[in-house]
Amino acid sequence: MKEYIYADNAATTKLDKDAFEAMKPYLLEEYGNVSQPYSFSRNGKRALKDARETIARCINAEPEEIFFTSGGTESDNWALKGVAFKNKFIGNIVTSEIEHHAILNTCKILNDVGMTIKYLAVTKNGQVEVKELKENLDSKTKLVTIMLANNEVGSIQPIKELAEAAHKRDVLFHTDAVQAVGHMKIDVKDLKVDMLSASAHKFNGPKGIGFFYKKKKVQIAPYMNGGAQEKGLRAGTENIAFIVAMAYALKKNCEELEQNEKHLFHLERVLEHGLRENNIVYQRNGAEVHIPGNVSLSFPGYEGEVLLHRLDLMGISVSTGSACDSVNTQISHVLQAMKLDEASARGTIRISFGKNNTVEDVKKIVLALTKLFN
Ligand code: PLP
Repeated sequence: MKEYIYADNAATTKLDKDAFEAMKPYLLEEYGNVSQPYSFSRNGKRALKDARETIARCINAEPEEIFFTSGGTESDNWALKGVAFKNKFIGNIVTSEIEHHAILNTCKILNDVGMTIKYLAVTKNGQVEVKELKENLDSKTKLVTIMLANNEVGSIQPIKELAEAAHKRDVLFHTDAVQAVGHMKIDVKDLKVDMLSASAHKFNGPKGIGFFYKKKKVQIAPYMNGGAQEKGLRAGTENIAFIVAMAYALKKNCEELEQNEKHLFHLERVLEHGLRENNIVYQRNGAEVHIPGNVSLSFPGYEGEVLLHRLDLMGISVSTGSACDSVNTQISHVLQAMKLDEASARGTIRISFGKNNTVEDVKKIVLALTKLFN
């Protein structure tokens, strides 16, 4: 296989080898259905319980507040539709202009069936302001959903303050923490969120598995109707193998959080220093407080799409501003909301480093960009 420098870790990450080893027995040997009472399923049942406890510990939740889902998209859908069903599709939802399409397209559907959606504007750094939220809350608001960290520019939102503002009006608060879990310290009690979405493939776990945190006292409608799994709220036979791997990967990332953060911020500095040293004109997008390794760069006068393909030919994977959405080649809604001028928005790429990237990788990326611009 061709030697690749993979620098698109905000899109997905490499499965951790030990997490893969941890899940194998549950595919090949301990494959019993954990809903069955016989002893053949005993180890699977224990693994499910352990994984729930491990994940709960990583975000300072209670094990009974963790529900397994198929990933970030499902968890986001659950939060919004769960609240909507519970309120018979009456009322308002407040969100931001920079959410992932898992939120935005769910909002569109809920709007079609009668709910009102309010979209909060963001600053030029891609952050939601608390005063903006306060001005948009009213007696009809049932839910506020604001992402913890943006996937395109990495900006971290003032979630605790936003959640407090929602609670003052007795409104539930959900956060899409898909880009944040496993990459920064998460304490759901301190953040004061009622619900949170996470996805394993963003923190070196497998694709197609994630979790949903729901505070015990929060009552929303079930997402999947069927069997009694996940307290009857998310029916379907549990994917024990992937759940085990997810818990393993999250625990490992949380234990290595500080060293990963240090490493990734160092890679960012090496990249920017290299660009400056080679007189490459660029603008960095996003807030000072951001997810480690997420670097959105604009090169006005160039097309991000073209840069992506040229880098690809040189064996480097990055994404454009409109990442996770390769069929949609319009200017990214996030960069538009941040009021980036059109030339900068069109010339934007996102380089997202992961813990497996090295300084050598970054130097090769700088060299490749230097070749492209000279
Ligand atoms: N939310 C955000 C912020 C994301 O970045 C993504 C994935 O790109 C998702 C939701 C969807 O997650 P999943 O791929 O697990 O469905």
